[in-house]
Amino acid sequence: MQESNLVIIGSGPAGYTAALYAARAQLAPVVFTGIESGGQLMYTTLVENFPGFVQGEQGPKLMMAMRQQAARFGAQIKDQTVTGVDLSQAPFKIWTNFPEGTNPEVFKQGDSAAIQQLSKQVKQQQPSYQAKAVIIATGAVSIMLGIPGEQELIGKGVSTCAVCDAAFYRDKKVFVIGGGDSAMEDTLALSKFTDQVTVIHRRDQFRASKIMQDRVLNNNNIKVLWHSNLKEVIGQDKVEKIKVDVNGELQEFAADGVFLAIGHRPVSDLFNDQLQIDQKGYVVTRQSLTVAGVTQAQQALDDQGLVTFPSMTSQSGVFAAGDVVDVRYKQAVTAAGQGCTAALDAERWLESH
Ligand code: NAP
Repeated sequence: MQESNLVIIGSGPAGYTAALYAARAQLAPVVFTGIESGGQLMYTTLVENFPGFVQGEQGPKLMMAMRQQAARFGAQIKDQTVTGVDLSQAPFKIWTNFPEGTNPEVFKQGDSAAIQQLSKQVKQQQPSYQAKAVIIATGAVSIMLGIPGEQELIGKGVSTCAVCDAAFYRDKKVFVIGGGDSAMEDTLALSKFTDQVTVIHRRDQFRASKIMQDRVLNNNNIKVLWHSNLKEVIGQDKVEKIKVDVNGELQEFAADGVFLAIGHRPVSDLFNDQLQIDQKGYVVTRQSLTVAGVTQAQQALDDQGLVTFPSMTSQSGVFAAGDVVDVRYKQAVTAAGQGCTAALDAERWLESH
């Protein structure tokens, strides 16, 4: 079993930024990248809203640069998946082994039951690492519909981030799937570039906040297909058309872009019996934007006038950052910022213990 001051689980902008700060603080952090190193930006093409890149940067290149930058200062980056954790007391225990016959794909598929089963199984063996502090930066995955053509055309017209991709759809025919705030936000972002935006929603009313709904419904350039479900995305190398069940009738529409906005699922299966997790699966920290996080922050302000270690989870010494915590912003730059704060909190916590 190897020992470390700090283990960082996850390798998106939050994980790598935490690694950079922790490495520069001489903590020699160990980063477990997960089954696919680099996080969600590995599936993006041009990232135009990460500051510092005048012409934008390709998502995978940006993530590779973050990885190399963290490694340059001494972060030990392991292309391994954490398969189990014991966060009940410090030093925390980390397992990375896959017992024979188990399927590493369960992490990619986000199969909660299988992940928890695997996690129980691995703990019958010795842990691979033990750490004085842990930062969880496992991110979130967009919920997909699971319809034909969706996976094949991701990045080729199917997108899960209008804020990132809207500018590529100037004067194009685009469809947004969903009826929540994300769908409204995506629709409005797209409407700045094209007047051919259609929202496809499965019910006859949106779930989004009234103000966001009003902005969409009062915009004459935006159409809504109520009682509608996207059934198929069709295209060779890019999206060309879609099939939609509209009120029980299958219809075909020409399309250039399909934006899925049916919610995100934080990747927290490994921790949900060990840390406080909210109803939607987000890890709660002392200052996260959940009812629990805000209540705890208020309590700390009332008691001490200060929230100490804002990025700390319900377990002392375990911190969390990025999309696994963030119910609201979910941007590369906000995740990076949170990674920085988690590393600074972890450093100070380690100093004080
Ligand atoms: P959400 O509120 O859970 O909405 C998901 C939407 O997708 C719902 O309209 C849902 O339909 C639809 N949906 C879910 N599964 C579907 C399926 N299989 N097929 C078709 N439609 C499906 O998720 P969100 O919009 O990502 O928002 C998440 C949280 O972040 C919310 O609390 C939201 O308020 C917040 N948020 C806030 C802002 C902001 O304030 N600016 C921006 C974005 C997000 P039903 O309505 O029929 O269930």
